[in-house]
Amino acid sequence: MVSRAEREAQTRQRARVVWFTGLSGSGKSTIAVQVERRLFELGHRVQLLDGDNIRSGLNGNLGFSAEDRRENVRRIAEVAKLFVQNGTIALCSFVSPTKAIREVARGVIGTEDFKLIFVDTPLEECERRDVKGLYAKARRGDLPDFTGISAPYEAPKNPFLTIQTKDRDVGECTDAVLANLLPQFKLNA
Ligand code: ADP
Repeated sequence: MVSRAEREAQTRQRARVVWFTGLSGSGKSTIAVQVERRLFELGHRVQLLDGDNIRSGLNGNLGFSAEDRRENVRRIAEVAKLFVQNGTIALCSFVSPTKAIREVARGVIGTEDFKLIFVDTPLEECERRDVKGLYAKARRGDLPDFTGISAPYEAPKNPFLTIQTKDRDVGECTDAVLANLLPQFKLNA
């Protein structure tokens, strides 16, 4: 068996799971994509997991019921854990709306490796952006159980980091995330 420590020595980084939570349109994926690019350019081994590569494949059979959301997050967390055991930093961008569901992820990954980032954008701002037209659809009643409209979002109480995106540009938010995260990836720190 090649151990995690050996793999981390090879990649010269401590691997972690960075879990972005927040409303739809809050900016999770936009920031995570920039953070991934910057870490990659700094020589880190990093992988972004988001709706595009998970919901469409591995979790393609899951819907948005409470049970399916839980199973969705459980599988994502298991995949992220495999990345970390491989010595790779995993960035996960998922709404993960409730404390209970985030606890599922933390339970699978382990507290030390689980770094929760709350992308804190007011509902009104997310709705104004309405990147994918989902809020309009939810307001029309065409999207049941939509987080923030017809399903709850519970803000995390003690995240590793909170990022406010309203009236700030993506670059500023990315810089703040990186400044806080980089020490986490240092070996023997
Ligand atoms: P989520 O992944 O949380 O659903 P997205 O990243 O898909 O959200 O969409 C966020 C939208 O908000 C994008 O259109 C992005 O350009 C915009 N935006 C404006 N300001 C910011 C910011 N400071 N950080 C992140 N996204 C921002």
